[in-house]
Amino acid sequence: MKLSRLLTLAFFLLSYSAFAQQWNKKQAAVVLTYDDALNTHLDQVVPVLDSFHLKGTFFLTAASPAFTKRLSEWKKVVANKHELANHTLFHPCNGSQPGRGFVTPDYDLATYSVRRITDEIRMTNAVLQALDGKKERTFAYPCGDTTVDGKPYMEELKGDLVAARGVHGELVPQGPTDLYNVGSFMINGQTGEELIKLVKQAEKNKSMIVFLFHGVGGEHSLNVSLEAHRQLLQYLKANEKTLWNPTFIEAANFIRASGNKK
Ligand SMILES: [Zn+2]
Repeated sequence: MKLSRLLTLAFFLLSYSAFAQQWNKKQAAVVLTYDDALNTHLDQVVPVLDSFHLKGTFFLTAASPAFTKRLSEWKKVVANKHELANHTLFHPCNGSQPGRGFVTPDYDLATYSVRRITDEIRMTNAVLQALDGKKERTFAYPCGDTTVDGKPYMEELKGDLVAARGVHGELVPQGPTDLYNVGSFMINGQTGEELIKLVKQAEKNKSMIVFLFHGVGGEHSLNVSLEAHRQLLQYLKANEKTLWNPTFIEAANFIRASGNKK
């Protein structure tokens, strides 16, 4: 083979592999996650996602009344290809941290053992499996707390969970990343324009952005308006040729399949 042809082939292979490593052959990935199992997720978020054919990941607190009283509706959410994910049974947070006046003594992570938190997370996996039949599950740390008594409890759970979302606001670059503490952007009060600006940053950096929503149109002290949320979805739909919108588990499996060693 002539050297020039060999070089062309090498160039083609190199550029193809760089291309394949991009976000499912798109420029950036946008993951939409919704925490704490709220009524508004069923009443407002799922219908608007479905109307745009977009996918969301719902990090469910299994003891939340909006979950336990509406099981059949959550089952339908699965049928529409959204992800049901684990946000523990009782949402324990470390009450000894500043600003944690809302933590009740019964569910204070500061008083938990590693055994108790890992048992409760495994039980939540079982509850979700009963609903959707799936054995692979992702997780989000309540309040972003990752340790019990100074020990990172995820060490015990890597066989039970394929990935976990953290709360540190950073874009996820291509290449190796810690799949058990994936960064996300906590949304509270932003306008539609500000949400879209975050996506544009991800596009510019060829990164993945994970949005962390709680209330949408109310129901939580961390909240975004229905209009701002809708504007973001509209932008994602309008730019679907360059933006990939996987669920969190699809994104994690993609990163792992791309050769993630972490
Ligand atoms: Zn939460």
